[in-house]
Amino acid sequence: MNILLLGAPGAGKGTQAALISGKLGIPIISMGDMLRDILVEDESLKEQVEPYMRSGRLVPDDIVGVILRRRIEKPDCKGGFILDGYPRNVEQAKHLDKIGVNIDKVIGIHVNKEELVSRLVGRRICKSCAAPFHVSFKKPVKEGVCDFCGGELISRKDDVADVINTRLEVYYEQTRPLEGYYYNLGKFFVVNGEDSVDSVNNMLMNVVEGIAQ
Ligand SMILES: [Zn+2]
Repeated sequence: MNILLLGAPGAGKGTQAALISGKLGIPIISMGDMLRDILVEDESLKEQVEPYMRSGRLVPDDIVGVILRRRIEKPDCKGGFILDGYPRNVEQAKHLDKIGVNIDKVIGIHVNKEELVSRLVGRRICKSCAAPFHVSFKKPVKEGVCDFCGGELISRKDDVADVINTRLEVYYEQTRPLEGYYYNLGKFFVVNGEDSVDSVNNMLMNVVEGIAQ
């Protein structure tokens, strides 16, 4: 089962991908992680990828396609995989179809915009050990202080209000159209991401196992 999870920043995609990965025993394939790994591990691809990453431009689809295909041919992907962070737009999805990377189910985790913003602005991270906290949903024992190491809790620079709005706009404009694209291929499902982590996960597992529509 090859799965693509779609969700705006703050929708809980990372958390749910990790849970599904654990339950099904299939890996999460994160394009961002793979590209970062290539910079340190792979001399031949590094030359092709580095100029784009350095300048903050998108790595072209044909290069990404080569990297992805090479990854999914590894034995741990025999039972399937969960794609994370790619494709991000319809053009990239078409490219995957063209090179024969099959996705069986695409599941959108829907959370309304106000909820997303309140989740994202409340996120804090420990400056020393990177442990995640939230001012409403996962409070530290002592405000502003890490429970684990006593480090200072800060906001990531991605999680300030105007950057959050930009990230959400980019998602709605570029990535959301993937829902329609995969819907037309009969592969798209949606779950309500505003419930608890456990109940969202139950809904996702039902879709993955073909119990729910
Ligand atoms: Zn800490």
